[in-house]
Parts: sequence; structure tokens; C-alpha cells
Amino acid sequence: MNHLSLHGEDAELTSITGTQCPCWDYRGSGYSAQYHRDNSSADDCERTGLIDTTTTTKNIKLTVYPIGAGVWGTNVPDYIKTEIGIMTGIDFVAFGTLDADDNVFLSLAAYGSEDTITYDSNDYRISKIYALTFYELILLSKK
Ligand SMILES: [Zn+2]
Repeated sequence: MNHLSLHGEDAELTSITGTQCPCWDYRGSGYSAQYHRDNSSADDCERTGLIDTTTTTKNIKLTVYPIGAGVWGTNVPDYIKTEIGIMTGIDFVAFGTLDADDNVFLSLAAYGSEDTITYDSNDYRISKIYALTFYELILLSKK
């Protein structure tokens, strides 16, 4: 047993993958409402830029601290504290992450701001991940 499996908070990691919608390259890059007006019979990505999507959900555990709580302070290198101090819109700092089904460390390096961590009935975006020696430090912002 490790610290996270014993004391981690239950959360859910949801990622949506799919095929990039043709609207993305219609006019430069990014969502194009014009593409969908011009191609009204095409699949509607609903502003996500993805069609033919698959939603994957994983049960995870992480330790979560409200930003500014200070309790996470001693384990975090000073340069990160300084960076976090000047960021806005960050709600939680999390240490993690464990796949709750097999209690194995789960790197979130492949996940990003389009993915969702649901914790305590709220949805959070992964704003930034710091890969440190023994863990990843994850900054979460409310969606
Ligand atoms: Zn689209």
C-alpha cells in the first residue's frame, strides 16, 4: 500500500478522443462555425473540433489541496510555488495519480486541458502538470 491508495481522494478522469473535425482547418486553425454553415450535412462537432468521439473514464486517486492552503508547501520546490503564485484561475493543487482499479501510478502526461477530472462532484480542467522526481503535481481549474 502506498500513501495515495490509503489517503488519496477518489476522482474520475474523463478523456474524449476522436477524429479532428474538418472545420478545424477550414479557415486557419480552430473551430469554424462557417464550415458547419457551409456543410450543414456534415457531422457537427459541437465546437469541440472532434467527431466520431470516444469517451473513456477511469477511476483515479489523488491528493487534492485547495490553492493557498499551504499544507502542500513543504514538498513543492520554490520555483513552482512562485509560478503558481502568479497564475490565476487555479483552484486545486493535486498530487498523483493512481489508477484506482489496480493501484498503479498513472502518469497524466498524455492528458491535457481538454480532459476532465471530476472530484467532489465538480469538473476540473488540467491546467498544468509538473513532472517531479517522485510524483506529478497537477494544477486543476474549475470548468
Ligand atoms: Zn467542427
